[in-house]
Amino acid sequence: MSLKTICVYCGSNAGARPEYTDAARRLGSRIADEGAALVYGGGNVGLMGVVADAVLTAGGEVIGVIPQQLVDWEVAHRGLTRLEVVDSMHTRKMRMFELSDAFVALPGGFGTLDEMFEMLTWRQLGLGKKPCAFLDVAGFWQPLMTMMDTMVAERFLHADQRTDLWHGEDADALFAWLRGYTPADADKWMDQKRRGQLTSLEDA
Ligand code: AMP
Repeated sequence: MSLKTICVYCGSNAGARPEYTDAARRLGSRIADEGAALVYGGGNVGLMGVVADAVLTAGGEVIGVIPQQLVDWEVAHRGLTRLEVVDSMHTRKMRMFELSDAFVALPGGFGTLDEMFEMLTWRQLGLGKKPCAFLDVAGFWQPLMTMMDTMVAERFLHADQRTDLWHGEDADALFAWLRGYTPADADKWMDQKRRGQLTSLEDA
């Protein structure tokens, strides 16, 4: 698939290990080398600032999408190719979704998980078919993958949705997966629809 823009969600903190910063820097320069533009939350803090600076240093383009509140708190990055200031966190998420061909999560906190899980949730409702990947550093995402396996085992998550995301540490493998991505045709209610138990989402 075409990869003109890649959205990176990541910590507004740098985390406890230098490996996190190293990984953010490597991902940023790799995005530029791949000829893609970075879409991200527009901050100059934590891993967010590191990945944005790395793309710019490597000669790439960076589009930041930031709510006015965070500009007022003076955490906006002032050196981006383009900074879009929006009215709310909700508008920001929608705008980042519109602008991006793919979503990659580096380690982060609530904000990172919120953004990534919203993309995964929209996708399982058939609202978007864009690839979602967790780029791991020092096993940070492993407990989350285990949690997702538990969701499948306990039948809260469709197995197709679980396997329709990428998790790993290797950026070469990540970009190969992104470029070859074709979305699973399953959505959350496919089995029920097949069995004739559900005709539309409104019936859910
Ligand atoms: P967290 O993982 O909780 O550190 O939150 C990081 C994510 O939430 C980023 O991907 C941003 O989109 C958003 N975010 C949180 N804090 C900030 C901030 N200070 N500036 C810009 N975006 C932020």
